[in-house]
Formats: sequence, structure tokens, C-alpha cells
Amino acid sequence: MDSVNRQTEWPCSGCGACAAVCPHGAIVLKPDETGLLTARVCGEKCVGCGLCTRVCHRFSDEVAGCDLRESPLYAVQSANPETIKNCSSGGLAHELALWTVRGGGKAMGAVYDTRTDRVRHETVCTEAGIAALDGSKYLQSDPQEAFRNALAEAKKDPSARFTVFGTPCQIAGLAKACEVSKVRDRFLLVEIFCHGVPPVGLWDKQTERIRKKLKANRFDSLRFRYKKDGWHSYCIRADANGRTFYGTRERELFWQVYFENVLLGDACMTCSLRKEVSLADLRIGDYWGRRYQSRSDGVSAAFALTDAGRAAIEELLRSGAVIALDPGTPEEMLRAQNMAGYADAAAHREAMELLKSGAPVEKAVRAYRSREPAKQKLKRVVLMASAVLPSSFRVMIRKRI
Ligand SMILES: Cc1cc2nc3c(=O)[nH]c(=O)nc-3n(C[C@H](O)[C@H](O)[C@H](O)COP(=O)(O)OP(=O)(O)OC[C@H]3O[C@@H](n4cnc5c(N)ncnc54)[C@H](O)[C@@H]3O)c2cc1C
Repeated sequence: MDSVNRQTEWPCSGCGACAAVCPHGAIVLKPDETGLLTARVCGEKCVGCGLCTRVCHRFSDEVAGCDLRESPLYAVQSANPETIKNCSSGGLAHELALWTVRGGGKAMGAVYDTRTDRVRHETVCTEAGIAALDGSKYLQSDPQEAFRNALAEAKKDPSARFTVFGTPCQIAGLAKACEVSKVRDRFLLVEIFCHGVPPVGLWDKQTERIRKKLKANRFDSLRFRYKKDGWHSYCIRADANGRTFYGTRERELFWQVYFENVLLGDACMTCSLRKEVSLADLRIGDYWGRRYQSRSDGVSAAFALTDAGRAAIEELLRSGAVIALDPGTPEEMLRAQNMAGYADAAAHREAMELLKSGAPVEKAVRAYRSREPAKQKLKRVVLMASAVLPSSFRVMIRKRI
């Protein structure tokens, strides 16, 4: 076990733990001016019991967790090629969810709602329901209702078991909520490596463009990482009216801005829950880096942080649901992730202030890009120009510059 220092002045990440444990329904997550959810307390309903502060990482000086660098690392792929195709990396999340529901438990993860173009957590208990959880949705997911219901069910029914997928902030919050509710052993908590989530306006701008292209008001389906050009390509696929839209990382404003690391949520910019110390049972992610860079199907990495996490992976391996590849070392895997965080606080503040004052997202993007050093500008132009090249060249250029 290791520990990390917490700062009480951190912004709320909207993890939903406080709303889930409040016995008086006095806390709800509501969108701020940028559309990102943060916790709001209703003074009239609050009795000052303090339960919310016990589950909120912003109120702890220290949180005990396990260190990825000292935990067993696995590199795996689903044994089913169709599953790998439908998932963002190697399909491990799908196999964990399947194993859970086949064992009589429930799986909770993020689903994309094509009516609202927003993401929320949902709980499924059938094999057919798992498809909606598959795939990364690069938006903040609203977990409050699903978390609240799962905790209530676990408290009422001692046989209830859940596997929950979420971002590190959501999983850290839920882990604490489970502890105060004395149901932690009933939850397998699986967090994803997390780059952060962008303001909602950026996604609204992107969906406006896709809708125009498809001449549709609503999508029939939407995927953020469709593997048309392989695992490394980050391609949005939207279907509507019998037409299909593909949006690549090089061409779409959404992806460009997401990877420029300035217009992410306030809490994401300073988040340390996404770093090496974790309260989850498992941390899963894309096994980026040189080891699997020539593969186009997708490889999942998983750190087993607890005995329960390790047992789950070992069971999937034993049953043949997933196939083991060479895991390399934790240092190697982590080197290919952005564990350092995001430096450009001034540019972030200025861009977010603009959004909060009602400015369109393009204006906020122009504002922070105007501060970019010439080298960064050149890199962006080269990446955008590479959009006309075949995928393998685009990936190569991205890695070289
Ligand atoms: C916002 C975001 C940022 C990410 N950043 C990184 C990163 O920097 N490095 C890295 O290696 N991997 C990152 N990932 C994780 C990666 O995309 C894959 O999810 C992971 O490798 C597992 O792949 P998979 O094929 O097993 O499962 P997938 O098919 O990708 O399923 C992932 C699971 O996560 C849940 N999920 C999907 N979207 C969200 C969401 N918005 N909020 C909460 N839960 C969600 C799903 O319900 C599903 O159960 C990120 C994912 C998201 C959503």
C-alpha cells in the first residue's frame, strides 16, 4: 500500500460518490457552464451529516491505494476477434463484463445515448446488454443514478455482485462509497487509464458537423474508436439515415483539441487519481508503445492492484476467454502513457473562462492556439495535412513528430 497527498482546493470531477451516498438526496450532479457535471448541494435538504466529505477525495489529505509500479501487469486480448473489433483496445472490459453476468453478477459501464448525445453509467445483467458498454466514449459519463442504485442494492441484498468500469476519479469515489457502505467486497472496481474528458461544447460542435454530413437529427449509432483503419487510428463512426460518417484523428476538431491537452475539464488538468496510485482492483488501458505498435487489432494492458483483480484476470485466462501476450514491464507500459499530467494551466484557464462566459468553442480553441509555440503549430499543420495519407503513414508521422 502506498499513499498520495490530496489538495482540498481541487475542482470537483463529478465522480458522483457524494450524490450516491447522501441519505437525504441533498446532492446532485449538474452541468456547469461548460457542460461538465459537478456536485451541487441543496442547502434545504442537507443535515450536515458529513458522509459526502468522507467519500470525496478533495476532503482527504491522504488516500491509501496500491501502486501500479508494484502490481502484476498483464497484456491480453479477447479470444474472440469480433469482440476485439468492437472494443477500443483488446476487449478485456467486454470479457470481464461477460464473466460477471455469466456468474450471476451485474456489469456497470458507460453507454452513449443517441437521443441526448450524452453518456451515462448503466447497469446490465444480460449478455446482450454488454454491447452497449463496449467501446470508450470520450466524454464525461453521468454515474450518479447507477452508483446510487448499485450501492442500495448491495446493502439490501448480500448476494448482489457488481463489476464497475469507470474513470479513475469515478472509481476512487465509488471505492470510498463502498467502504462507508460496508459493501466493498461485493464490487470489482475496474478503472481505465484516463486522458481526461473535454467540455461538452466541443462534442456538440462535432455532432453538429456530423449531423450536417449525414443530413440527420439523430444518430442510429455512434462509436468513438471504430477500427476501420486499425487500433491506432481514433476514428469516430456515426450512422444515420442509411449513411455513415467516419472522422479521423487528423481531420476532426474533436480529436485535435482532445489531444492538445488544454481544453479538458478543470479537474482533469490537475488530476492525480489518474496517476500511479489507485483504489481500483484493476486498471486497464491500451498497451501503447513499441511492443505492440505493429498490431492493428488491439491489445489491452491490465494492472492487477488487488487479489480480487488478479483472481478475475487469472480466471479469464484459465477459461480461455482472454489470451495472454508478453506483458513486458510496468515501467515499459507506463512510459507510453501520459502519467505526467498537463502543464499549460494559463492557456487552460483562459480557454475555459471564455467557454464559461458563453463564447463558442472555436473562440476558446483559437485563444489557446494563439499561445502555442511555433513548433507546436507546425506539428498541428503537419498532422492535419497527413489526413490524406493512408492510416499506416498517418500513425507513423504522429509517432515521429
Ligand atoms: C475518456 C477516456 C480516456 C481514456 N484515456 C486513455 C489513456 O490515456 N490511455 C489508455 O491506455 N487508455 C485510455 N482509455 C481507455 C481505453 O480507451 C480503453 O477503454 C481500455 O484500453 C480498455 O479497452 P477495452 O477494449 O478492454 O474496453 P472498451 O471496449 O474500451 O470498454 C471500456 C470500458 O470502459 C467504460 N467506459 C467507456 N467510456 C467511458 C467513460 N466516458 N467514462 C467511464 N467509463 C467509460 C465502458 O463502459 C467499458 O466498460 C480512455 C478511455 C476513456 C473513456
